[in-house]
Amino acid sequence: MATGINTLNKTSKTMDELTRQVSSEGSEKTLLLKKAGKIQEKVVGKKVFYRGLIEFSNVCTKDCYYCGIRKSNRNIARYDIDDDAILKAAKFAHENKYGSLVLQSGERNDDKFTERISRLLHGIKKLSNGELGITISLGEQTRETYKEWFNAGAHRYLLRIESSDEELYYKIHPHDKKHNFQTRLNCLYTLKELGYQTGTGVMIGLPFQTYEHLAKDLLFMKELDIDMCGMGPFIEHHDTPLYQYHDRLWPLKRRFEVALNMIASLRLLMPDINIAAATALQAIDPVGRERALQCGANVIMPNITPTINRKNYLLYENKPCTDEGADECTHCLHARIQMAGREVGYGEWGDSKHYFSRRSQKLQ
Ligand code: SAH
Ligand code: SF4
Repeated sequence: MATGINTLNKTSKTMDELTRQVSSEGSEKTLLLKKAGKIQEKVVGKKVFYRGLIEFSNVCTKDCYYCGIRKSNRNIARYDIDDDAILKAAKFAHENKYGSLVLQSGERNDDKFTERISRLLHGIKKLSNGELGITISLGEQTRETYKEWFNAGAHRYLLRIESSDEELYYKIHPHDKKHNFQTRLNCLYTLKELGYQTGTGVMIGLPFQTYEHLAKDLLFMKELDIDMCGMGPFIEHHDTPLYQYHDRLWPLKRRFEVALNMIASLRLLMPDINIAAATALQAIDPVGRERALQCGANVIMPNITPTINRKNYLLYENKPCTDEGADECTHCLHARIQMAGREVGYGEWGDSKHYFSRRSQKLQ
């Protein structure tokens, strides 16, 4: 309808317009995705950047209700990949011109962990002659820890807010000292202040979540003025408390479609940020990530975790590529990205353009 089409061009949008966009179907949805793909090409180009993902440990001190590796899940084998294997994976990323990598794990806040991460960051910088960009996604930490890791070489941080609606946040997390909405928010402010390229995101299709919640999430990201975003469909896991609501979730296909609507809407709202095509998209549709690259996403995170450990990093079920080695994934991915009409920015960091423009505005 005319109103929907006309508002696609504006970057300042109201809740009503965004709600309509994220829930759109049929021709309205087709138009939204197409428009986002065009804006993407115009503002950030056709290039897609690789971040080799190393999920180095599933040990976690938290108990998020949706996550398969939550502390209270006794049905999984815990692992912690040793430093040598992590550095080997980093070497693989460097040799294959991945440009950057992401270190991700469950959340730990002990000194041993903090020091180990610093050591690894220095090690990765050294083995790549400073050429590998490093994103970390290690949960909520103190300002000192974030600073230490920044100084050790990490320059991007991913911390999803999961939902920007406080009420919904507490439906998907325990409400205690270790799971606090305000703390998570404060961490995002701190990361920005320290100079990280800061990324957040949400899950799409959570129990109790509405289209209005998702529209609010988009406005939250705009307001926070983030540099990067990683968001994808929620996929239920048997051994988690949220599983009890599995029969009232949107069908997987709908969660997938709304995730694409969210990516496209965010690209229109924040044209120069980096948006990742989340792995969870691929768990629903074998070419899910490639479809996201055509409607706004410009970052992809090939999994380079040593294969034997992959099966135990099951945040959700049916996680893709848990059997394949990194090499295998690399070759198929290149072809798939080309088929999606995109190019791989080999050896480039592919930093968020938005980060540099907001920093230079601050200096003026
Ligand atoms: N422990 C860190 C990073 C690892 S979890 C943290 O929580 O920030 C990375 C992301 O996986 C989370 O932010 C969450 O959004 C996503 N995730 C967890 N369980 C999921 C599920 N069941 N379906 C989809 N995404 C999930
Ligand atoms: Fe731990 Fe992150 Fe999973 Fe929460 S989402 S239980 S912090 S790994």
